[in-house]
Amino acid sequence: MEAILKEYFGYDTFRFGQEEIINHVLEGKNALGILPTGSGKSLCYQIPGLMFEGTTLVISPLISLMQDQVDSLKRRGIKAECINSTMSKQELKKVMTSLEEGQLQFLYVAPERFNNEEFRISLKQASVPFIAFDEAHCISKWGHDFRPSYQSIIPDLKALLPDALILAVTATATEEVEENIQELLDINNEAVTKTSVKRENLKLMVNPTYQREQFILSYIKNHQDMSGIIYASTRAEVEKLSDYLHEYKIENVIYHGGLAKKERSLNQEKFVSDQVKIVVATNAFGMGIDKPDIRYIIHFNLTGDLESYYQEIGRAGRDGLDSDCILLSSQRDINLQQFFIDRATASDQYKDHMREKLDQMIQYNKTNKCLSSFIVKYFNQNEYVEECGRCSSCLSENRTEPMTSEARLILNLVKDLDGKLSKEHIIQVMRGEHADNIMSRGLNKEENFGVLDSYRTSEVNHLVEELVMRGYLHYANYRMHLVEKSFDVLNKKVKLYTVPYRKTYNERVDVSTDS
Ligand code: ADP
Repeated sequence: MEAILKEYFGYDTFRFGQEEIINHVLEGKNALGILPTGSGKSLCYQIPGLMFEGTTLVISPLISLMQDQVDSLKRRGIKAECINSTMSKQELKKVMTSLEEGQLQFLYVAPERFNNEEFRISLKQASVPFIAFDEAHCISKWGHDFRPSYQSIIPDLKALLPDALILAVTATATEEVEENIQELLDINNEAVTKTSVKRENLKLMVNPTYQREQFILSYIKNHQDMSGIIYASTRAEVEKLSDYLHEYKIENVIYHGGLAKKERSLNQEKFVSDQVKIVVATNAFGMGIDKPDIRYIIHFNLTGDLESYYQEIGRAGRDGLDSDCILLSSQRDINLQQFFIDRATASDQYKDHMREKLDQMIQYNKTNKCLSSFIVKYFNQNEYVEECGRCSSCLSENRTEPMTSEARLILNLVKDLDGKLSKEHIIQVMRGEHADNIMSRGLNKEENFGVLDSYRTSEVNHLVEELVMRGYLHYANYRMHLVEKSFDVLNKKVKLYTVPYRKTYNERVDVSTDS
């Protein structure tokens, strides 16, 4: 094993977890490896693959990922090929013949390939002692990126290659997903290797401010010449954000599924080769990108679950140096994610499951406990972790401002007019705006009219959203409603704090777009 590691890959020692996984395979067991992104999962199947006679079949979800790996193996003098839908008939034929003749050490395929009869016949004739499932969480319907085609090939594999050993690797598996993978692929407990998901060099931050665009501007100003990814949840949002940065002369490229293939790869290439430091992207960007020096990952929107979030931030700091992972979000993101779930074509049971995951994501977003520990616990209930001391929660004493008195004023107004006010009404009344829709409803006569007249619209908006997000106000049918919890604030039972949203932030940032 060590000899191959050195000879083919040029490394002297194994990284944590790698040796154990490889040993399981060499002992003839089906195995599962759960290692953080960047920890070297590919070597876990490439090394046994080089030791076995015959072809190792690697099942991988993405063409770009496959191509990169095949190129890198070829550069090392290893006979590797992939089959994908962009190849010509002739190219396909050539690869299949090599497979049948036993000339390939590695063959990468997407799961959809199993629908192709010719491929199945080839596979049957070939000698394939070992199958690797990359991104194995895609097999599990409880995983965050379930691909039905990943699961449906299992009976095919069992029929076509009944004696082949299986190794599944992934970075993101909750205990539930882990058990599901084990069951589907016949993997015993003793052949599961799981290292901590904790990544010491990632500094986690949640909502350092409520003014997201401005935060990004000032962050980039302070981190010039560093590479970073800014994720947004929709294509439209990506383009808007990219334009906004261009307005401030911040060079960036975009990446999302709506771009032509050529433009996507060009933009990716510009980012990877350091011609452009910033990419603004949807979650279509990132898998298989092995850029070591990504210094920050900013999420402009909340992701639907922590697995996706963890996978996306896993791309930062692969070189082991400190990197920031910042989650910005707003109440609208939660609504959007809820909308995605409601609209999804899935069983009620599955939707409930997604709702639970979203709920955990929301908890992460508002917890005041250590963020690093929160993530570790999410993936592994039994792992004990010390507080990291560096995430935004651990440092939170310095970054909060009281909002109890403002909250009480807002809740008092809603108490008087429960279920009658929209968010905009509340903001207008609090700021004392003599707008038509306020006057016509007589809201200018409310006792609290104008009590927050020194506050900006966006500041009051932030306060109202905070109250909704933390469950002190309920927003339904475009109207605000009081809930039991509201009385904890009204009766002075709790004190509320939020991110710096007035003086501190305004002093720090010198660009203003606020109305
Ligand atoms: P993952 O799939 O876990 O995200 P990769 O397999 O792409 O990670 O590996 C990440 C990087 O780490 C690659 O550049 C790889 O060559 C390197 N790497 C893997 N194993 C070792 C090792 N034992 N020593 C040093 N570098 C390694």
